[in-house]
Amino acid sequence: MADLKITFLGTGTSQGVPMIGCDCPVCRSTDPRDTRSRSSIYVETPEASWVVDTGPDFRCQCLRENVRRLDAVVYTHSHTDHILGFDDLRSFCFERSMPVYASPETMADLARVFQFAFQALESREFIPGYVRPEPHLIKGPFMLGATTLVPLRAEHGRAHVFGYLFKREGRPLAAYLSDCKRVDDDVVEALQGVGLLIVDALRHRPHPTHMTVEEALAFSARVQPGETWFTHLCHELSHAETEAALPPGVRIAYDGLRLTPSLP
Ligand SMILES: [Zn+2]
Ligand SMILES: [Zn+2]
Ligand SMILES: [Zn+2]
Repeated sequence: MADLKITFLGTGTSQGVPMIGCDCPVCRSTDPRDTRSRSSIYVETPEASWVVDTGPDFRCQCLRENVRRLDAVVYTHSHTDHILGFDDLRSFCFERSMPVYASPETMADLARVFQFAFQALESREFIPGYVRPEPHLIKGPFMLGATTLVPLRAEHGRAHVFGYLFKREGRPLAAYLSDCKRVDDDVVEALQGVGLLIVDALRHRPHPTHMTVEEALAFSARVQPGETWFTHLCHELSHAETEAALPPGVRIAYDGLRLTPSLP
């Protein structure tokens, strides 16, 4: 098994693609790469497996990719398209609790929205069939198995999010920044030498909280990763047409895509 394997559970923006009630060419496309469920990745290493975010499509994504093992859940932020599948974590909590990693703000939102699960935790009363979260507030880099996850703070409109850099034996294998508009130089610095950069590229038209394709290209040029993969796309971008216009080394991710990052 490769050191680290990434499966894209979802690559779409908050409404997913196709959008309900839309007849645009992308929503009606027969190219399977234009069907995008809500953004999330599943990461497998020899010691541990985790997901980044559990959006509304989490259950179907787990069934589609046959996800059987989950040792932790890591959150980027608490927008609904990233957390609403939380309750389906109960399928992985029959005999144990589930380590949940998030910023203090995101954890507070999770505890509010999924109060029943966090309340059971406080009262130490484990109700069969409930999610049993084991909260871990992120204050800096942390380990899952032999992988170091370095939180990357980025601006997402008025909200702040965490992207994550995955390092093994000091090697910066991959980074995931699904929702962001602006990324400071210290994060770009932390990403130097990264093998694979996965980044938000919503559409071509400007958006207040997401990078456009052009902004994502400019960000990629600052980082200079081995490869760049775009995610969190909306229905204004056709996979085939958009990818054909991208420079070498920059690609568009799609649901079900598997990547095994390696360093040159
Ligand atoms: Zn999102
Ligand atoms: Zn559409
Ligand atoms: Zn968001």
